Amino acid sequence: MQYPKLFTPLNLGFTQLKNRVIMGSMHTGLEEEKNGFEKLAAFYEARAKGGVALIVTGGIAPDFFGRLSPFGAKMTSISEANKHKVITDAVHKHDTKICMQILHAGRYGYHPFSLAPSRIKAPISPFKPWAMPGFMVEKTIKNFVRAAKLAQKAGYDGVEVMGSEGYLINQFLVSRTNQRTDKWGGSFENRMQFPLEIVKRIRKEVGENFIIIYRLSMLDIVEDGQTWNEIELLAKAIENAGASVINTGIGWHEARVPTIAQMVPRAGFAWVTKRLMGKVNIPLITTNRINMPHVAEKVLAEGCADMISMARPFLADPDFMNKASENKSDAINTCIACNQACLDQIFNQKVASCLVNPFACRETEWKLSAATTAKNIAVVGAGPAGLAAALTAAQRGHSVTLFEANAQIGGQLNMARIVSGKEEFNETLRYYTHQLQAHHVTIKLNTSFTADMANHFEEVIISTGVVPRHVNIEGVALPNVLSYPDVLRDNKPVGGRVAIIGAGGIGIDTAMFLLKGSEPESLADFDEKWNLDTTYAERGGIVHTRHKINPTKEIYLLQRKKGKPGAALGKTTAWIHREELKKYGVKYLDGLEYEKISEQGLHIVRDGKKQLLEVDTIIICAGQTSERSLYDELLALGITPHLIGGAKEAGELDAKRAIEEGTKVALYM
Ligand code: NAP
Ligand code: SF4
Repeated sequence: MQYPKLFTPLNLGFTQLKNRVIMGSMHTGLEEEKNGFEKLAAFYEARAKGGVALIVTGGIAPDFFGRLSPFGAKMTSISEANKHKVITDAVHKHDTKICMQILHAGRYGYHPFSLAPSRIKAPISPFKPWAMPGFMVEKTIKNFVRAAKLAQKAGYDGVEVMGSEGYLINQFLVSRTNQRTDKWGGSFENRMQFPLEIVKRIRKEVGENFIIIYRLSMLDIVEDGQTWNEIELLAKAIENAGASVINTGIGWHEARVPTIAQMVPRAGFAWVTKRLMGKVNIPLITTNRINMPHVAEKVLAEGCADMISMARPFLADPDFMNKASENKSDAINTCIACNQACLDQIFNQKVASCLVNPFACRETEWKLSAATTAKNIAVVGAGPAGLAAALTAAQRGHSVTLFEANAQIGGQLNMARIVSGKEEFNETLRYYTHQLQAHHVTIKLNTSFTADMANHFEEVIISTGVVPRHVNIEGVALPNVLSYPDVLRDNKPVGGRVAIIGAGGIGIDTAMFLLKGSEPESLADFDEKWNLDTTYAERGGIVHTRHKINPTKEIYLLQRKKGKPGAALGKTTAWIHREELKKYGVKYLDGLEYEKISEQGLHIVRDGKKQLLEVDTIIICAGQTSERSLYDELLALGITPHLIGGAKEAGELDAKRAIEEGTKVALYM
């Protein structure tokens, strides 16, 4: 057994968990879909079958006021509870436990009826909440208890009380959001009565044989957050109130520090849970950026926690635990912490899925069934679209040959994975390398597919990707001008003063590559950069003297249109890139025209004024165009190949669309 700690059962007294991993709570958007509960049942059943010990559902509101969004799911009546039975029944078929998370959004509620301890608007919500009158505080506690009772009736093994990430309970705990003068405000002892009453009364109602997980905010990362002493005091009181397990919450949603994005070092917050180990007698769960079994095993071995919570890694691979138990970690489709198909979708009011696993949340619609007739298929181009098409076709029983003109698979991913903070893309390439071999795909590297080869195949899939867009600026052929592949792929030398033409994802990646290099950031550097106070000397775990970085290059990031850099990037990560650009002193200029390039640098026109940016190197990151010459050639010969990914449409192409299109084309052939 490669991961002995991970697979040690955990005894909770009245029940036992078969291993040390829970699937953490994650809203999928299916909760509010038509036939959403059937779809959720299939979604959770796949994860239960995959070997996880316990699942926590996405947050369900205890009442109308506590919903996250206008149509957010709530648990307030027996008819609502009955709808959940399909989920609990499905999960229980596989010796997996399931707890329903009770989440009251408080001032994060995206509707005009949101309630909070005090009438203070959250910086991330357009709605100003109503301050709860005293009777409403009492009523809300009762509603938490009612939701827990109903969850028990629906067949859940327990509930998780959401006390972190800046939601209602967290709002009660700190003076930043709780300025009440009644018994629910004032001292910390008063402010913590709200969660204590909730846990105490739930335990009284549900009896002893029901799991109560309390998600405790152990690092608020906001001004006037909790002190460590307060957190410890609360944890002990929560244990005494009757919780069975304490889960870790890191950072309020309004915190300006990345907590789960790709650039957060793996297990980067396990140290927080470790501080509480030994201070309470119930098991502790740690979380955030744990995405492979060896990382989880190390966290447990180092005594950081009793259990591990992972949410997104189970979107990426429902069979994560079974593969780990069979020592097949190389077969795990690793969550790359991009948020692009999960959280970014949710923030756009869409159903989540997963960039590396587009089957996630489509379990009732997309089936990986055996092909009725096995065909001989050529896939041309081993970027993300081609890789997904080749693997899916092979999994369905087709005979697949994958052609790649370059010496390695990966296409554009090879330019992403070398940027410090984006190394998780290496896992995606490891996964495809392993799986293509396991499914007997013939890979022909350094091989250009020519039109005459098409006759040897029954189907041809063209995934030839994109080429950098050529820009029409005088002087663009001068030696001080480079393309982004020159820098990211060919490692050409770049001067100390740089102008980057184009402020999309690749312009930002190029800037970060020049400033941070390729090495993953150490946890100490990450903590220092984001002003995290690991000594907990200050409230909320943030230091107030801001850390200054001395950048190694002077960079201009440029764009013709007006607006923020990386405007098309996902909501959950674009702000992090912008913060990083600021930290490294990148000068962003928008609303400009490019006049010409000379040996002296880049000549621009801004606000009607001509200006010379005296730089050594100009890098073109101006988007891409489709590479489809082969496709056109085949069409002219009367052959109709399938066209996917960047070759089909270069605009706003990202790995999410590429993998989704590649998978889908192979599902229907
Ligand atoms: P992009 O997002 O389309 O950005 C292209 C940039 O080039 C824009 O700033 C654009 O601004 C500029 N531009 C376009 N045509 C130009 C021209 N003819 N002359 C000068 N400037 C021009 O493309 P990208 O940055 O190459 O990214 C490609 C795709 O990969 C995007 O979908 C992106 O979201 C995705 N990606 C995502 C990430 C991530 O971290 N999630 C990272 C990298 C890439 P103006 O036209 O206003 O000047
Ligand atoms: Fe992980 Fe990205 Fe998939 Fe979300 S979309 S689960 S972050 S790989």
